[in-house]
Amino acid sequence: MKYLVLLVIVFAGIWWIRQQRRPDTPQQKTSGPQIMVACAHCGTHIPENEAIHGAQGVYCSQAHRDSHEG
Ligand SMILES: [Zn+2]
Repeated sequence: MKYLVLLVIVFAGIWWIRQQRRPDTPQQKTSGPQIMVACAHCGTHIPENEAIHGAQGVYCSQAHRDSHEG
């Protein structure tokens, strides 16, 4: 039992050191809650980071921005 606790501490230490060495983990793209916005042209909901920003709102695609804003 003593060795098991020691092993856990060692693994926790290794994990902690690895976390410290990699501040730029590429996990931010899909993890976490997404902010959804509605297309001003067709009303389709898309993630805010994928939305096309126009002068009159956000759009699901470049084509909808062009046809809505002229
Ligand atoms: Zn649209």
